[in-house]
Amino acid sequence: MSALSAIKVEPCIPMPRSFWGTKSVSDGLPLDIYEFNRPYWEALTRGSLIFQSCMSCGHCWMPASRSCPACLSMTWSWRESCGKGKIISWVVYHKAYHPAFKNRLPYNVAIIELLEGPRMISNVLGDCTTLAANAAVNLTVELEGDIHVPRFSFEPCHRPSA
Ligand SMILES: [Zn+2]
Repeated sequence: MSALSAIKVEPCIPMPRSFWGTKSVSDGLPLDIYEFNRPYWEALTRGSLIFQSCMSCGHCWMPASRSCPACLSMTWSWRESCGKGKIISWVVYHKAYHPAFKNRLPYNVAIIELLEGPRMISNVLGDCTTLAANAAVNLTVELEGDIHVPRFSFEPCHRPSA
C-alpha cells in the first residue's frame, strides 16, 4: 500500500494553476482536468496509476468521479495500481475519425482490467494482431504533448523517471 492510498479528495492539495483546465494530449485533442480527477493526472506524471476506492462499500472504479458509482457515497480514497492487468476486449481502427489519429493507423482501443479490479479504456502498444482476450499486459506511461498517458504493453512496466 502506498502513501497515495491515504489521499482523500478533500482537502485538495494546492496545485499550480497551470495544472488546471483543458490540456492537449496530441494534435489538439482536448483533455479536461477537474478538481476531482486532478490527482489521477498528477499521479501519472510520477508514473503511478491510481483509482478510487469507496470507503463505504469497497467498490473500486475508473474513470474518476465525484461519488461512488455503486452506492453514491462521497467518501472514498485513492489507491495505486501495481500496473498489471489483462485485456478484456478491444477494437482496431483502420480509419481515422479525427485527424489526431491519422498517423496511428491501425490502432486499438482496449478495455483493460487492472489486477485490483477496476476496468479502464486504454491502448495496447505494439502490433494489433497480437491482441488476445485475457492476455496479461503492463502499464506503460507515455508522455504525449504535455500529458502523461496510461497505456499498456506486453513488456515489463514502464514508468517515467521523476
Ligand atoms: Zn460505494
